Amino acid sequence: MIVVFLGPPGAGKGTQAAFIVEKYGIPQLSTGDMLRGAVAAGTPVGKKVKAIIDSGELVSDEIVAAIVEERIEAEDCAPGFLLDGFPRTVAQAEMLDAMLEKKERQVDIVVELRVDQEALVDRLRNRIREAEERGDPVREDDNEETFKKRLGVYGEQTAPLIPYYEKQSKLKGVDGMGGIEAVSAEIAARLDEIKR
Ligand code: AMP
Repeated sequence: MIVVFLGPPGAGKGTQAAFIVEKYGIPQLSTGDMLRGAVAAGTPVGKKVKAIIDSGELVSDEIVAAIVEERIEAEDCAPGFLLDGFPRTVAQAEMLDAMLEKKERQVDIVVELRVDQEALVDRLRNRIREAEERGDPVREDDNEETFKKRLGVYGEQTAPLIPYYEKQSKLKGVDGMGGIEAVSAEIAARLDEIKR
């Protein structure tokens, strides 16, 4: 089962991804995590993308598509995988369709976490406060100004994926405003409908 997760920053994709990994035994492929890993490791790609990530803009389609294409070759992706944060543009979605078609595979379902935009900045403030209370580091792009930039980028460049996947009859909207467990239950219901 190949699952794509859509939703603005702060919608709870990471939290729900952890639940899906556990319940369905498929790995989570987060391009944000992979890019931050490359930055931390100081690889050539990491050096190229650090300033872009910190600004809240998107890294080039070619860089992220290459990272995903390599990652999905790994054995743990054979039963399926969950894409979290990719695709982020229509061009990336087309690249994904093309790379999967070469392997005679396809995206099975796209889960869109629907949330009130106004609630997201409040959630961000809570997340920052909780991280600080725990003494955990806060992501450099999780300050209010960059977060608002990321929300704008989502609306302009990523939201067009909603009609893209609607046209493929793959889009399932899930109300992301409930409690974590209620949202998980709704996602599981959608995945169970299509699970083969
Ligand atoms: P995330 O952890 O998904 O919020 O991603 C953090 C940042 O990494 C984004 O703001 C982008 O700069 C970059 N990034 C992650 N995934 C992608 C992608 N699919 N395309 C372009 N940039 C990405």
